[in-house]
Amino acid sequence: MSEQHYDVIVIGLGPWGSSTAWHLAARGKTVLGLDRFAPPHMHGSHGGATRLARQSSSAGAQYTPFTKRTFELWDELAAKTGTRLLERSGTVFVGEPGSMWFDKTVASLGSSDFEYDVLDGKTARERFPWARIADEEVAVWEPNGTVALVHAAIEALQSEARRLGATLRTGESVLGWDETASGIVVNTERGKYTADKIVVTVGARANHLMQLELPYKVDRQVLANFRQVGPPKPAIYFAKPPGSDEAPSYGCSEPSGEWKFSVPGKGNWIDPEDLSQDLRPGDLERIQDVLRDRLPEIDPNPVSTTVCMWSEVEDGHWVIGEHPESSKVVIGTGDMGRGFRYAAAVGEMLADHVDGVSRPETSLFLPSRFVTAKA
Ligand SMILES: Cc1cc2nc3c(=O)[nH]c(=O)nc-3n(C[C@H](O)[C@H](O)[C@H](O)COP(=O)(O)OP(=O)(O)OC[C@H]3O[C@@H](n4cnc5c(N)ncnc54)[C@H](O)[C@@H]3O)c2cc1C
Repeated sequence: MSEQHYDVIVIGLGPWGSSTAWHLAARGKTVLGLDRFAPPHMHGSHGGATRLARQSSSAGAQYTPFTKRTFELWDELAAKTGTRLLERSGTVFVGEPGSMWFDKTVASLGSSDFEYDVLDGKTARERFPWARIADEEVAVWEPNGTVALVHAAIEALQSEARRLGATLRTGESVLGWDETASGIVVNTERGKYTADKIVVTVGARANHLMQLELPYKVDRQVLANFRQVGPPKPAIYFAKPPGSDEAPSYGCSEPSGEWKFSVPGKGNWIDPEDLSQDLRPGDLERIQDVLRDRLPEIDPNPVSTTVCMWSEVEDGHWVIGEHPESSKVVIGTGDMGRGFRYAAAVGEMLADHVDGVSRPETSLFLPSRFVTAKA
């Protein structure tokens, strides 16, 4: 048994858990963070060097306050750590009106005070001659769209959490926990630790670890990097045509000078324990086909690939809040493939739940909306 009792143990130190550890330590809590691997790594949802971080949202205008807050917090963290966390690339979102993702993106911008321009197909082609954009398509330009630097961001969250007193241990898998009258005993492969409360931010592995059946499915996703000639380009999305509910294809320039591109499918469901970096037939061809069609200047021979996973929740929203059966356990999972840019704000929401602060605007994320525990 460990000598020290903690206020909070954070299980999983990806972007969500590292951010939670940062916020809790900043509130004066004694914090222990544990991770099975050593983030940043390739065994979860944050694999790869970058994540697109735009101000618009395809999830609806109710995300705008979280978008504002997360950018404020990233800026604060960058200033505190003296690190560059977001590259201001600008973002182009191309699509046909009537396409679900495109319409929601435009609607979210229309109801916000974020800066943006809507360009018809011809104007967009003149402005972004490296992208193939059809006459009937429209492009939305966000000058303040950014690309988040995954490694720098996770390292900054963790270094700030440590500076504020948190203890973060990696390479130590949590096996489960027991609730006692006075708190929680966390069992790992190396020992036991006690705390008043725990926060479970293990990404796609949440159901496995918590013995819950939260209604999310884990989708396997492939990112590919290509040689890029010339200066960095803005990040770009190509929405699927009207009638499709698949996520847009997207890409961005990376700090290495390469171009990252991905063509998300839907329904590549996997068991998170089966995630591997091995490619499957068709993985690359699917990306190359869209790349050749949309960005013909990019050499379609890949330099590297990354396989990772995101969790798609039945109703399209994250799962953030108190465990329905225990006020000592706070859950953060169901990232919906858009959790990196929000990590700074999600950590704050999770810290609020630890403190028992309820915020009406975050109630749509509460696990209690659909949890049924396993018998
Ligand atoms: C291909 C792809 C593209 C994406 N693109 C974007 C994008 O452009 N913009 C954006 O905002 N978001 C994007 N996302 C989503 C974003 O990457 C995720 O939302 C984010 O990584 C979720 O972070 P997390 O901390 O919840 O999970 P993870 O990053 O998976 O971290 C969970 C951590 O828990 C640890 N863990 C698991 N089990 C245990 C255990 N038993 N004990 C201890 N530790 C454990 C893991 O080792 C891991 O470090 C994308 C995701 C994918 C897969």
